[in-house]
Amino acid sequence: MNKAKPCYIWDEKLIEESDRLPAVIGRASMVHNIIEAFNLMGKLTVVRSTPATYEDMREFHSDSYLNQLKKYFEVDEDYMSTARDEEFGIGYDCPPVSNMFDLVSCVAGGSVTAARCLLLGVSNIALNWCGGWHHAHRAKAEGFCYVNDIVIAIEKLRKKFPKVLYIDLDVHHGNGVEEAYSSNKSVFTLSFHKYEPGFFPGSGDIDNIGSQDGTGYACNFPLHASYTDDTMEYAFEKVFNAIYNNFEPDAIVTQCGADALARDPNGGATLTTRSYCTCVQHVLDKRKPTLLLGGGGYNHANAARLWASLTALVAGVQLDDQIPEHSDWPQYGPGYTMTVEPTLARDCNKKTYIEDCIKKILDNLNKYVKPISEEPVTKRMKTEGEDMISKTSYRNNKLDFRKKDSMFATEEKNDTAKNKSEVNDVYEFID
Ligand SMILES: [Zn+2]
Repeated sequence: MNKAKPCYIWDEKLIEESDRLPAVIGRASMVHNIIEAFNLMGKLTVVRSTPATYEDMREFHSDSYLNQLKKYFEVDEDYMSTARDEEFGIGYDCPPVSNMFDLVSCVAGGSVTAARCLLLGVSNIALNWCGGWHHAHRAKAEGFCYVNDIVIAIEKLRKKFPKVLYIDLDVHHGNGVEEAYSSNKSVFTLSFHKYEPGFFPGSGDIDNIGSQDGTGYACNFPLHASYTDDTMEYAFEKVFNAIYNNFEPDAIVTQCGADALARDPNGGATLTTRSYCTCVQHVLDKRKPTLLLGGGGYNHANAARLWASLTALVAGVQLDDQIPEHSDWPQYGPGYTMTVEPTLARDCNKKTYIEDCIKKILDNLNKYVKPISEEPVTKRMKTEGEDMISKTSYRNNKLDFRKKDSMFATEEKNDTAKNKSEVNDVYEFID
């Protein structure tokens, strides 16, 4: 096992269950298949995903919500949502599905497994393209999201990494994650998204900066329709570096929702894989423990192109533009290449608008989020004391983890991979 290799979270059941998500039927296997077709698995540490437990999910979700999810076993196609379902957001854009609890356990489990890889130092980077469901609330499903795997993973990470920076690249505002940490200064949330009247979820204005203790620790960059690679890269670089320097995170979680790519049926931006790769490279350059997640992405072929590109980026591989022949190959026509072309739509973001947003964000940062070294001496001493406490508890946690995860098993190379050009080891946590 090579410690430097990024961890790629995978499991047959994780893919199978994620394939059942009503908004993205079959997408998870398409993403995994292209990554496999490019032979990227050999450059990664493949870690078998373990489903999340009820207790794991309780780190964010309420008992009443989780117990409600346990009630859906066999759901008929003509199922009519009840008032009780609607109370928990089940219906409309989050229809009930059969064996709902298994599905959400697997989806959340992928991100919990990824967080575990970072906590145990298996690698500094972990990928779970089946995760990234940023709209789910504590007691309510919303916007195709039944379980907020992101918040659950961040809660795990915080046991060792006191300050977590969350970055959301999805075309929609990362409302569920922002809401979870709106009054918390240990998790800084940064979301870039399209913000237009009537566009889901309707939140994410630049003036929403968190509340109470967390004031200044939420940042929203609302963009007008058809934002381009140039706009995104410029805005990201200015804002990300400033936040990173002021907040000084111990770990970074990035939701790489693919629906800001050009031609997404639910999007309205015109990005290509270029700006996503540039932004993620800026994150990787900081060399902090980093978790990369999926999210939206309703043009499945483009989502697969993006996440294969990001997988190659972290694996340090230059991909051929031609997509290798594999079972899903026909779905990449007519070009069968990795290129996502931008559309000709005009970028509605004027330079002055972007500069104004950047200025507002930097002003807020300087007002609320100062690096420790710039704080008055009395306050600095207090912070050091707090640090010692968190370090002690971190040591204790680490011992616990060692006890539980002292062994890491390798699955024997087996004949299920007989048709693959390369056989890969799969690592697994042993409890
Ligand atoms: Zn989205």
